[in-house]
Amino acid sequence: MAETKPTSHIVVTSIPLFSHESSVIEFCKRLIHVNNHFHVTCIFPTIDAPIPATLKLLESLPSTIHCTFLPPINKQDLPQDVPLQIEHAVTKSMPSFRDSLTSLCSNSTTPLVAMVVDPFANQALEIAKEFNLLSFLYFPVSSMTTSLHLYLPILDQQVLGQYINHTDPIQIPGCIPIHGQDLPPTFFQDRLSIAYETILRQTKRFPLADGVLINSFSKMEESTARALMENRDNIINNTQLVYLVGPIIQTGSNQLNESLCMKWLENQIPNSVLYVSFGSRGSLSQEQINELALGLELSGQKFLWVLREPSNFENLGDHSAKTDPLQYLPNGFLERTKEQGLVISFWAPQTRILGHISTGGFLTHCGWNSILESISLGVPMITWPLFGEQRLNTILLVEGLKVGLKVKFNENGIAEREEIAKVVRDLMLGEERIGIQQRIEELKDAAASALEEDGSSTKSLSQLGTKMESNARK
Ligand code: UDP
Repeated sequence: MAETKPTSHIVVTSIPLFSHESSVIEFCKRLIHVNNHFHVTCIFPTIDAPIPATLKLLESLPSTIHCTFLPPINKQDLPQDVPLQIEHAVTKSMPSFRDSLTSLCSNSTTPLVAMVVDPFANQALEIAKEFNLLSFLYFPVSSMTTSLHLYLPILDQQVLGQYINHTDPIQIPGCIPIHGQDLPPTFFQDRLSIAYETILRQTKRFPLADGVLINSFSKMEESTARALMENRDNIINNTQLVYLVGPIIQTGSNQLNESLCMKWLENQIPNSVLYVSFGSRGSLSQEQINELALGLELSGQKFLWVLREPSNFENLGDHSAKTDPLQYLPNGFLERTKEQGLVISFWAPQTRILGHISTGGFLTHCGWNSILESISLGVPMITWPLFGEQRLNTILLVEGLKVGLKVKFNENGIAEREEIAKVVRDLMLGEERIGIQQRIEELKDAAASALEEDGSSTKSLSQLGTKMESNARK
């Protein structure tokens, strides 16, 4: 598409997590691809310092997208719990966000028309109103998780007692029924907790937005998206529109360990390799690392595993770790499996690996970006949820779309080596693979169609652009 001079300016904000920043950056690229008269400025809050993997993405941005980081908030001054840490950091960043917006307004040669806001940075919606901007929530998650957020004030009224003790499945319109234990644990474990109160308070701010954007596509979550549109009077407000704009996935290359991984994959046979990764910040306990290593070995299947140092917590994308994760592998494992697998420390070029012909399966923690990448590139999955909304994503993949197999955990929450070996062999060699492969190919084609010039997601983006621009003419 030929470059034209931008006529309108959009501001975007997110939260200091790689998968949220990277997703919204890719969203901006798509928005500009479809509506090439926009100029975008991303203004991101930071904790301590910008995330290195995000900085890497910025190296290949088009000239119409600029990215700036707000003065960092000191991690020591924040709560330890990740979701609360983020909410505090965003709240503390709002005064400097407002200042940045003021200076953007006075210096921009094109009128500022709209703001795109991560749902966890929803404090910015009020600032959008102060500046007379249209505002849109960008959900870098499934329609099902978006529904959970949007229906929360209603669920809060309807469900009595703790969600986790609820014996009947919780029914959100258009979604697969959910068991209380599968709701995101940090927020839903205890409805008397600060985390629950925080998320409930946040969702009550959502009606301030002029629209809801979801990184999903209609063929993947048709009934959920339809129910969201039909029920929007009750959950958001009837003037809001819901736009499915996905699948938006990582397109950048030249990442850490890229040539090493690509070279190794070149020497493998098609569809033979299981890629094992737990997202940008997932890590396993030492006991679980041992079981996974021995399970992969026992499976006899080829593997490419991205390993982090053990932790029972999320690791907020700090890949400048002091210790080499390979030292946490069982004794002799690397030597014994040197013909079978490759273990990479910290980070791998995920979309390039998933897109490689040798890759035939993905053992994933079910982060939404990872799922969309696997589907867009047609790779069957093994689901191993760790935190956040990942159990909901597992249900969607295994029970809804039937494109993945589930790892089973014992009563201590550990997946044992025999179970891992079994599920790996089932996915890579078992009878079920044929059906899974067929369904994922169909979804892959639907994903590609949604992004074509006349595809559903492209049309949504074009309508969104028209709506945003209408604010310039007021
Ligand atoms: N990612 C990557 N290399 C890695 C780990 C992660 O490129 O070694 C990217 C991955 O492609 C995806 C994102 O990081 O775009 C992870 O997002 P996801 O939503 O799957 O999980 P989260 O990081 O939020 O847990």
